[in-house]
Amino acid sequence: MKKGLLIVFSGPSGVGKGTIIKELMNDENLNLVYSISMTTRAPREGEVDGVNYFFVSKERFNEAIYNDELLEHACFVDNFYGTPKAYVEKMRNEGKNVLLEIETVGAKQVMNHYEDDKGCVSVFIVPPSIEELESRIRGRKTESEEVIKKRIFKATQELRETYRYQHVVCNDNIENAVMKVKDIINKSMEDYDEEC
Ligand code: 5GP
Repeated sequence: MKKGLLIVFSGPSGVGKGTIIKELMNDENLNLVYSISMTTRAPREGEVDGVNYFFVSKERFNEAIYNDELLEHACFVDNFYGTPKAYVEKMRNEGKNVLLEIETVGAKQVMNHYEDDKGCVSVFIVPPSIEELESRIRGRKTESEEVIKKRIFKATQELRETYRYQHVVCNDNIENAVMKVKDIINKSMEDYDEEC
């Protein structure tokens, strides 16, 4: 059986990663599983523990770092986020493609760690403009003004990191963006022939 890909998927807050991921997960041919991250952020309305994230205390997060349970971790706008390590390799060894939706600091750690692994594919989603991004974050109405400002500032920093990624896709139109990411994953599956 062929080993699964590790797909590092990044892009600034509000760029539409969640919508793209939903479409990708609905496509069975992509053989995708979503890596559920651990975070110290409070759940937003409608978010479910163990589905969107594992919502944990700072103490539990620190314990996970101490016990080497995380593949990568980073602080993003006052909260910590990390990828549980065990699930990723288990799934890849079962032939599944694992999608990590992570910010740029953690992504850099993963890309360095898997530098020689041809199964590690990185994709960065960019907005058509920073103004468009700001209006999407505001339209979501899930964050306070202070957090919105911090997220927009963070977005401008993250957009400087696109050069680290193998693929950059603009989300000017959701159907196009989804199609482009699907093409990237399909092509990467064809090219990767590592056995489990
Ligand atoms: P949000 O609070 O909007 O759900 O996520 C904030 C940022 O954290 C997003 O850019 C998201 O991709 C990133 N993120 C989510 N999970 C992880 C993770 O496990 N590790 C890292 N490094 N970033 C993550």
